[in-house]
Amino acid sequence: MKRHNALPPASRLVHLVGNTPLVPVRLDGGPEIWCKCEFLNPSGSTKDRIARYMLEKAWRCGEIAAGGRVIEASSGSTSIALALACAQMGLRFTAVLPEGVSDERVWIIKAYGGDVHIVPRAEGIVGAMRWAADEAARSGAFAPRQFENPNNAEAHRLFTAAEILQEIPHGVVDAVVSGVGTGGTLVGLFEGLDGAGCSVTPVHARPVSGTILGDAECCAFSKRVPGVVEGMSHLFMPERMAGLVTMDVPDEEALSITRKLIGRGFPVGPSSGLNFAAAVEMARRLGDGACVVTVFPDRMERYFSTELFTPIKSVAAAAV
Ligand code: PMP
Repeated sequence: MKRHNALPPASRLVHLVGNTPLVPVRLDGGPEIWCKCEFLNPSGSTKDRIARYMLEKAWRCGEIAAGGRVIEASSGSTSIALALACAQMGLRFTAVLPEGVSDERVWIIKAYGGDVHIVPRAEGIVGAMRWAADEAARSGAFAPRQFENPNNAEAHRLFTAAEILQEIPHGVVDAVVSGVGTGGTLVGLFEGLDGAGCSVTPVHARPVSGTILGDAECCAFSKRVPGVVEGMSHLFMPERMAGLVTMDVPDEEALSITRKLIGRGFPVGPSSGLNFAAAVEMARRLGDGACVVTVFPDRMERYFSTELFTPIKSVAAAAV
């Protein structure tokens, strides 16, 4: 029988990850969308699920043990989630970030006891990934590599999808909507719901820049929705997702819907507005009574210094 290494006691904090509420949300008289409130995970994003799961899998398989080192390149929520998970599991963590990420991100990682290595802006996330791979090979550190680690999608397939099925009335989901960064969320949710017998349409929400239809810019992928990136994933293979629908959402609309969601009491970041906009369009296409599910991946506090808050700051400044 295969033996597994026991997890450290601190990992009992695992019960804090996941089991987020799934709530029906309707904006401006539009269709009702079921939204999984992933921003309520302990580090503030859905990435707590994959951080915890990838590390636990590695621990059980003996790839990492108490005091070991974890290294990951991520400009987004994953480095924060890994920093928190490592703090809880007694592991050392190094985040490799491209120059230009916000100070807040660096401070949070350091507060959890992590190290930060910055690569030059020109090298971007690809340069950061290269540095992380070289350093992991040199030092023997464990590199979760979220863009290619199948345990990323598995965490969503086994847990997020199962939670949705438990919470959704009648246990039936017609469409599941998500932006794609690593692809773990969309792939895992689709496989989990499909595997449970739902006839579910996967919907890839893509932020696009430019607002004038017919403009060549119109279909350019937009970088204004952090976390959602094009062409990085080794997990998302469109040809393996039966019935995949790609829904383009103007980035300006993603931001304005995010502001509306915040105004309704959901403290979320831009990818939530992107997901919600695509989910509304999908619900309209499917017609009355369709059950469309999406995720609110992370919290608004990470975006105070971004354009998401520009209109709010100007109103606040005018009022002083
Ligand atoms: N939203 C945010 C805020 C993210 O950080 C990410 C991933 N980096 C996503 C959405 C996309 O999720 P996934 O990586 O599972 O495709």
